[in-house]
Amino acid sequence: MTATDPVLEIRDLSVAFHSPAGAVQALRRVDLTARRGEIVGLVGESGSGKSTLALAATRLLPANAEIRSGTVAVCGQDVLSLPAAGLRQLRGQTVAMVFQDPMTSLNPVLSIGSQMIDIQYRDATLSRTGKRARVLAALERVGIPDAAQRLACHPHEFSGGMRQRIAIAMALLMNPALLIADEPTTALDVTLQAQIVHLLRRLRREIDGAILFVSHDLGLVAELCDRVVILYAGEVVEEGTVLDVFHTPRHPYTRMLLDCDPARIDVVSRTLPTIPGDLPDLVQPPSGCVFHPRCPRAEDRCRVEAPSWNAVSATRRARCHFAGEGA
Ligand code: ATP
Ligand code: SF4
Repeated sequence: MTATDPVLEIRDLSVAFHSPAGAVQALRRVDLTARRGEIVGLVGESGSGKSTLALAATRLLPANAEIRSGTVAVCGQDVLSLPAAGLRQLRGQTVAMVFQDPMTSLNPVLSIGSQMIDIQYRDATLSRTGKRARVLAALERVGIPDAAQRLACHPHEFSGGMRQRIAIAMALLMNPALLIADEPTTALDVTLQAQIVHLLRRLRREIDGAILFVSHDLGLVAELCDRVVILYAGEVVEEGTVLDVFHTPRHPYTRMLLDCDPARIDVVSRTLPTIPGDLPDLVQPPSGCVFHPRCPRAEDRCRVEAPSWNAVSATRRARCHFAGEGA
């Protein structure tokens, strides 16, 4: 695999959830690529479909989800048609996940020592003692004090911040091609957030893969990511390098997010600044441009005609009729 090969390649992905109110169209025609060595930020307000995308990438969607179109490939493997054994291999070897609640990726009934030794099962050349030594080294690298004494502890015996570090240490041991970090710092206080961001940066240098960083936090995305994908109501509305998108947004939604006074960003929950209006009903998404009910620039055309991708440059595009004119 070369440095530019896509590790994660999502094409035309549409996902709906069946609910008593009808089919919730959580993702519509989503494209996303993450290449080796790259951190891609996925940003959008609550309900925009970020977690749905992260779950679809590893085929962990709940039973009421229906994939209506599209493909997901990880290292060239078609995730959506993998048989059960291939899927296990994908989740155990190729993709690591660090979630907002680290308990999602830790087994509550096993000691962290045995979980971290087990995760190295594919390394047949190393003895159990060798694997234990790697576990200790990984725990020390993420700053777990007295690691040797704590191997027998279960996840609930650690604080939330410690558990998040352990989840990251597990990702280090896997050396995954793809790390999906879904709001990994949201539940933590500001000091711990800074430490976890520092670890993610290190992880990026140490793993030989790509990171998909799902976040509400524009500041963190600016600090950590190379490229950013902006999701609104289940659609990607803008993408490009962090530098381009944050300095000269081309979609009015991105512009409005960035124009919000940073002081209004809720430091405790680190939620995105709120812009006027609500996300539309995803059972019946708006006609035309999905953003038109909230868009200050909307014209008649926007209410009836869905914008297609407007390429601003080779690495930059926005789904707005007027992207060429700036947002
Ligand atoms: P948050 O930041 O709050 O986690 P999100 O951007 O990750 O939000 P998703 O959780 O992916 O958004 O949700 C996208 C849409 O799909 C929302 O309208 C949500 O209510 C709906 N949804 C998610 N999971 C289900 C489910 N299991 N059944 C029905 N609807 C669902
Ligand atoms: Fe706003 Fe129209 Fe652009 Fe949609 S297409 S973002 S409604 S200006």
